Amino acid sequence: MKLIKLTFENFTIRIFIASLIFISTIWLILNLSAPQIPLLGFHSIIDIEEPQEKGIQGSPLPAMDYTKQDLREFLDYLVSHNFWFLSTQELYDYFLTKSKHIPAEHLGQRPIMISFDDSYKTFYTNLLPVLQDLENEYSQKVKVVLFINPGTMAKSERKTSYNITCQNLRRGLLKGFYDIQSHGQTHKKLTELNNKDLIYEIAEAQTKLRECTEDLDPDKTVASHIAYPYGALNQRVEEYVSKYYLSGYLYNSRIFKLGWLRSNYQIPRLTVNHAKTPKRLIQMAERAMMIKN
Ligand SMILES: [Zn+2]
Repeated sequence: MKLIKLTFENFTIRIFIASLIFISTIWLILNLSAPQIPLLGFHSIIDIEEPQEKGIQGSPLPAMDYTKQDLREFLDYLVSHNFWFLSTQELYDYFLTKSKHIPAEHLGQRPIMISFDDSYKTFYTNLLPVLQDLENEYSQKVKVVLFINPGTMAKSERKTSYNITCQNLRRGLLKGFYDIQSHGQTHKKLTELNNKDLIYEIAEAQTKLRECTEDLDPDKTVASHIAYPYGALNQRVEEYVSKYYLSGYLYNSRIFKLGWLRSNYQIPRLTVNHAKTPKRLIQMAERAMMIKN
């Protein structure tokens, strides 16, 4: 009797382990084969051919900065290989909520998002000319996402300032290159704030960015989405952020996989620093899904 019982238990354990392996394998296959969209996160863009900038920045280049020259090489590749430069609202409408059908013009393209964090003046002085150059060369507009802290923007145009102004943002928006979104008011780690300060950081950033762009943005696409400073998020922050924003972006070196998002407030982004060569970024971009019928 005892022998029969033991055999039965062994059999049950074996079935259990086999099921576990089976489920894990299916899970892994589904995860690995999920369509992917690379969402890249840059910071300041430095022109290394500009002696003054090299002087200001010193040597070596700060880790999170990227050179204008390498960025140009990377974007050149993307434009000439039929990539679709997503705005935050497009990712939301077509891939997160799927509330809209992808327009036919995007068939055969591969979606990617190129985003930049903080309030660097170089988004205007170095990034914008690259985008303008690409448009002149390929007759295609490269849209980039700027996650801005309005509380650290410069009040007026000054040569010595490292920070972007509202006027700079307005010019890039008017030309159709910038998708301006929120990065909190003053770049505070949201998880460490009390409720009152947390609300201030997320609500004030939205108000200020929209005040700056109001007449150019009747549909209020500006500051409808947020990237958390330092990528710091917890349940409480997510709860408050969801009262003001449609979606939220992390900074966690992970690629976005269609259908595998826990919440629209936990969108992963691939981190970029100057150690990642254009060749490496192209490899990351090549993981993008293709838009099919
Ligand atoms: Zn930041």
